Amino acid sequence: MRVRDSIHDDRLPNSYYAATCNDLSGFGRLEGNIKVDICIVGGGFTGVAAALHLAERGYEVALVEQNRIGWGASGRNGGQVIGGYGPELSNFSKIEKTFGAGNANTVWKMGVECVDIIADWVKKYDIDCDLRWGYVDLAMKESELEELKQAKAALEAQGYAAEQKVLNADEVKACVGSDRYIGGVTNMGWGHCHVLNLVLGEARAAERLGARIFEDARVSKLHIDEDNVIVDMDHCRVTANKVVLAGNAYLGKLVPKLASRVLPAGSYIVATEPLDAGLADKIMPMGFAACDQRWALDYFRLTPDRRLLFGGLATYSGRHPHDIVAAVKPNMLKVFPELIHTRIDYAWGGYMGIGLNRIPQVGKVAENIYFAQAYSGHGVAPTHMSARLIAEAISGDASRFDIMANVKHPPFPGGQLFRQPMLALGMAYYRMKDAMGR
Ligand SMILES: Cc1cc2nc3c(=O)[nH]c(=O)nc-3n(C[C@H](O)[C@H](O)[C@H](O)COP(=O)(O)OP(=O)(O)OC[C@H]3O[C@@H](n4cnc5c(N)ncnc54)[C@H](O)[C@@H]3O)c2cc1C
Repeated sequence: MRVRDSIHDDRLPNSYYAATCNDLSGFGRLEGNIKVDICIVGGGFTGVAAALHLAERGYEVALVEQNRIGWGASGRNGGQVIGGYGPELSNFSKIEKTFGAGNANTVWKMGVECVDIIADWVKKYDIDCDLRWGYVDLAMKESELEELKQAKAALEAQGYAAEQKVLNADEVKACVGSDRYIGGVTNMGWGHCHVLNLVLGEARAAERLGARIFEDARVSKLHIDEDNVIVDMDHCRVTANKVVLAGNAYLGKLVPKLASRVLPAGSYIVATEPLDAGLADKIMPMGFAACDQRWALDYFRLTPDRRLLFGGLATYSGRHPHDIVAAVKPNMLKVFPELIHTRIDYAWGGYMGIGLNRIPQVGKVAENIYFAQAYSGHGVAPTHMSARLIAEAISGDASRFDIMANVKHPPFPGGQLFRQPMLALGMAYYRMKDAMGR
């Protein structure tokens, strides 16, 4: 099975999510020109959550998505709802180092709040997206387990309330039925969900509050005209007081300054046939989401219909593997050899936006053009936080937005031509370290 990799594609990828989605009826097409307070470009979690936060605050919003809502990383990822505002910001001492003691607590709290936004909206808007709580970080060696224990202690020291538990080698098997791990740490405040149903549910909620959501609307040009931003698509135009750019790894060259700071990296997932109850219970007895600690990490979880969704294999070459099953299934079998004869029903992949310092990028490219991108493989929950920061700033309180916007995000070295091959080289180095046990 291969990835359809055309950037302009009105079909959703052939994923488990698209095959089991609640509502594929779609959203409208914009014909002609309109004027609104805020135009959002991109219909993933960043854009849809921005639309919902802003609609909740009473703004007149139009969201334009070049393909379908949830078409990008948001509707096709591993579905792991993990706290911490970005992979580098789950550890308090790292946060203090980046933001200084004065702002550290505010940023740390965002790592908890981002998950709360999802939990609150699922409840408030009655979004049917199989949200389940329970997550485990898996260690393959002592040094990893030690780091996980420290991260747990750091969370507790900050007053993190959700239950966490350190698991030894025997206990971890009661959570993930594999011989691969020497321990782990569970977290009952993190979990997993059907991400396509979540993003579509949020978009419907925004629509009910008055946001106008348009598909098949690719923005080809932006320009500023006095106090307005003109957002041009092939067949129509939106004039807005403010624009939010939420195209992330798929934004391409629309704004070169943003493109130079986000690198599209591929990640790939297989979904098995539904497993019989005994087998499902043997491999994932607690039904948690799980990740290991390597750079080229494995992530996996069971769906409610007992399929194993198993993902990993980060690629930085800009090219998708020729055959995803052939590339990902061997990794799955290293964890669960008993699945050797299990059929793979779906295989897909997509691009996530990686930033050089792995801290989510939030800011402005002009006085009235906001952006958020680069969650580095850890975006389901953090997207919701970035969107809230932008909504707060637009509503007149930029205090939290400014803390994030003040972080310097260097461009990737190598320019347009060489940054992808340079990162692929860097990744090969980390893979080698993973293989050698660091
Ligand atoms: C395979 C995979 C697995 C992952 N697993 C996890 C996970 O388990 N947990 C986790 O936390 N994170 C995970 N991630 C990362 C996470 O999915 C992303 O960080 C997050 O979804 C990014 O959301 P976004 O809205 O910023 O971008 P996207 O969801 O990529 O949305 C951007 C949208 O903008 C649109 N767009 C771009 N340019 C234009 C334009 N010019 N005009 C109009 N529209 C435009 C695109 O079509 C796209 O729909 C994974 C990513 C991938 C690819």
